[in-house]
Amino acid sequence: MITKFIKRILRRDPMVKHTQANNTGAPKRISKKSHRIDPHLLSKNAVKVTDTLQQAGYEAFIVGGAVRDLALGISPKDFDVATNATPDQVQKLFRKARLIGRRFQIVHVTFFGKGHPEIIEVSTFRALLDNAGDHVAESGRILRDNVWGSQGEDAARRDFTINAMYYDPSSETVLDYHGGMADMQKKTLRMIGDPAKRYREDPVRMLRAVRFAAKTGFDLDSATRAPIAKLGKLLNDVPSARLFDEILKLLMSGYSWAAIQGLKEAGLHHGLLPLLDHILDDGEASKGANSFVKLALANTDQRIQSGKSVSAGFLFATLLWPDLLKNWKANIAKGVANIPALHDAMDDTIATQSSGMTIQRRFESDMREIWSMQPRFERRVGRYPYRLIESPRFRAGYDFMLLRCATGELNPAIGQWWTDFIEADTVGQDELMASVKNESGNNASPTKRRRRRKPKAALPPEGASS
Ligand code: ATP
Ligand code: MG
Repeated sequence: MITKFIKRILRRDPMVKHTQANNTGAPKRISKKSHRIDPHLLSKNAVKVTDTLQQAGYEAFIVGGAVRDLALGISPKDFDVATNATPDQVQKLFRKARLIGRRFQIVHVTFFGKGHPEIIEVSTFRALLDNAGDHVAESGRILRDNVWGSQGEDAARRDFTINAMYYDPSSETVLDYHGGMADMQKKTLRMIGDPAKRYREDPVRMLRAVRFAAKTGFDLDSATRAPIAKLGKLLNDVPSARLFDEILKLLMSGYSWAAIQGLKEAGLHHGLLPLLDHILDDGEASKGANSFVKLALANTDQRIQSGKSVSAGFLFATLLWPDLLKNWKANIAKGVANIPALHDAMDDTIATQSSGMTIQRRFESDMREIWSMQPRFERRVGRYPYRLIESPRFRAGYDFMLLRCATGELNPAIGQWWTDFIEADTVGQDELMASVKNESGNNASPTKRRRRRKPKAALPPEGASS
């Protein structure tokens, strides 16, 4: 009897113990009649993935944000699939499948069709990692997350109840483990489990709370909101690259202005993005900055909501512009010449920002290019405009300049002049150049306009005979 009992204890694997200890329970099955998900909003490729996995004998569901968006009647921007097949088993079933990640291993299944290729992210049901030794740091932050578990465990380790629903396209059924559908109806964003513990495991969840609240317009449940004020500082421990990714998602959510207000209300912006500190100050001095950033973000939100692309470099260039402008003016006041003053200001602005969250290099160089183009828009003399229009990042610099016109920082007539210049033919462009001369009393041009000389007949390459 005793030996039987000991054997049973020894056989028990820790994963099963978690399941029992956390009482993940049975999910609520929600039929098509109640969830009203429109199958037309599904990605055909995502359905191909669940079908293929199911035909191979595995469980497979569309999961996470896609189910949330489908239930809201929104077309999801990407689709994640969850399955009980391991990454290796998944990979064997698809032609274009790649294993991604170490801390959190998943499989990317790529489909090529018309337009952009579509990637379906397939992840294996994860186990809960309570007391899982080397998987969890002292602060409670999860370091590695590749222990497979049951679907119930997988649901319990997701962040919000509305993000923990599983949709099976073949039966059109939703499996809801944590009352996500009821929270959707109540328009509530609720963290699964003990919110403080979940934020300690992964402080980025605090930023996700703000992002989803802005995106859905839902209220944060009070227990979900309460610990954020105290735990916000844990974001300092998150690796900069991860923070950057999450902030970028927040800014690119299509609801960036609302999300930034949400960050402020939650007290999360300080230190995280030094640029936001003064933008979000309500003082008189920040009014101009505020309107520039507000306009830039409204512009970004509009583009994203209408399915257009937005460059991250452009976005960060706008967010940091008020700070840059302040530094630029201060340098000029110290007697530094205009252009060197701008370049010094760029270095200072970027250095201040990097003390909070480093912006990736490739975006930094885009930002520098956009910024350094700005004074060139005011130099409408000689060959300058003809050269500027040919620079590879001209379009971004021009859009940025138009924003400056819209807030009145730059004379809107300059913006209009450039819009006309872009659209004009050569004769029209010459006329526009002449109009600037006339505008400023015929002496605007310190340099005579030089016509590009016709290239001399090229010398034949060496050894060529004519
Ligand atoms: P989006 O519309 O931005 O893609 P999403 O909910 O799909 O929103 P993802 O970052 O794509 O967000 O994550 C997919 C799912 O994985 C989430 O819905 C959630 O269930 C789970 N998840 C992602 N990040 C976390 C996290 N930090 N902690 C717990 N669960 C997470
Ligand atoms: Mg997603």
